[in-house]
Order: sequence, then C-alpha cells, then structure tokens
Amino acid sequence: MSSLQINKTGIQVQMTTNNKKLISLADMLEELREIATEMLSKWVRLAQEETLSEWIGGPWQPLPAAQRKLGCPRCGSVDVVRKCWRSRGVNVACFGATQLPLRQVRCKDCGRTWMPSGGAAEASKRFSRA
Ligand SMILES: [Zn+2]
Repeated sequence: MSSLQINKTGIQVQMTTNNKKLISLADMLEELREIATEMLSKWVRLAQEETLSEWIGGPWQPLPAAQRKLGCPRCGSVDVVRKCWRSRGVNVACFGATQLPLRQVRCKDCGRTWMPSGGAAEASKRFSRA
C-alpha cells in the first residue's frame, strides 16, 4: 500500500506492507514507478498552475491586462483564459513513457487554443514526445 500527498510546500510519500509475504523486487519497483509517475504528474500540474497565476492571474482573480505576461501566439492578445487539461504522452528519463497533464489556454479575441507548457516540455532535454 502506498499514499502520496503533494502541495506547494512539500511531498509526502508513505509506503507500508500490509502482509508478511515476501514482495518481489519487480513488484516494489513497479509500485515505486507508479508513485514517481503520480508525483511527477501532480508536480507538473502544480508548476503550470503557479506559472499561469503569475502570467494571467488566478482562476477567479484574473490580472489586469497591463500586468499579463502571456500573449496569444496568433494575434498577440493578452485576453486569454484557462481551458481544460490535456494528457500528453512523453518519455521521461528513468520513468519511461508516461502521460503528463498539460493545461490549455484559449484566446478570447481570436479563439486560438494552445498549451503554453507544450513548447517548454518539448524543448527540455529531459522530455521527449512518446
Ligand atoms: Zn488570439
């Protein structure tokens, strides 16, 4: 059994065995991989929310236009809003192929939808598309 809690101040992982049977190394490694993947996914989500809050404000407290730092790649408007999360397959070193959540945003002026973090994930040497 394992549990994972993550927030802005830290990560807490707890793993316990609930029986006296010998657990195979392969099972332990698989459980660790699942925990690490879940941790990575939650951390990626938090990091994007934090960055978006800096760029366009919180979900319910948008920044005034003059303070916004994210512009539409098509028309340059800063009148952009959060949309849904999309899952993207990526290969991450030591995790293998996994799915990570990427936030979409939409331009209210021209309707373009894109993922601000998509380019960063692709540019990073630690990530590559699956
Ligand atoms: Zn636009």
